[in-house]
Amino acid sequence: MSIPILFGWGKNSKQLAYIGIHKCPACKNYTHFYVREIANNIRIYFIPVARFNKKRYMVCHKCSNGWELDDENSNNLIVLNMNNPSVDQTEHLWEEIAIGMQGYQKDPSEKYIDNLLERLGYKYHNQDYVNNLFGKFIDFIQDEDVAK
Ligand SMILES: [Zn+2]
Repeated sequence: MSIPILFGWGKNSKQLAYIGIHKCPACKNYTHFYVREIANNIRIYFIPVARFNKKRYMVCHKCSNGWELDDENSNNLIVLNMNNPSVDQTEHLWEEIAIGMQGYQKDPSEKYIDNLLERLGYKYHNQDYVNNLFGKFIDFIQDEDVAK
């Protein structure tokens, strides 16, 4: 990834999509990421009439660093994440995975993981999202192990 840009994601910035939990290359946290667009606004009599010089970024919720995306990548991300659970649901799901993985210590089998993912996929109506977040959770656990 390229060098991040730190922004005050204020007035000229708008959120286009929530894209789930990822590991931030800058602050190293596993946290929420968004696609945001910044642009210069032209105002006539205080009414915004046009946005120009638009740029889209993938932005870390924790440290506010952003990485510029080209149009194709940003459109793909927006479409891919259109039907995602919300931020709150994602946090609940993350907790449920954490709790579920405590049970795995008592029953470390593939079957246990299959059942856990199936149950959560059914509950959150999005098996791909659950599987993907589970992968992120495993990365997170492995990072924690390395840090110890
Ligand atoms: Zn960050």
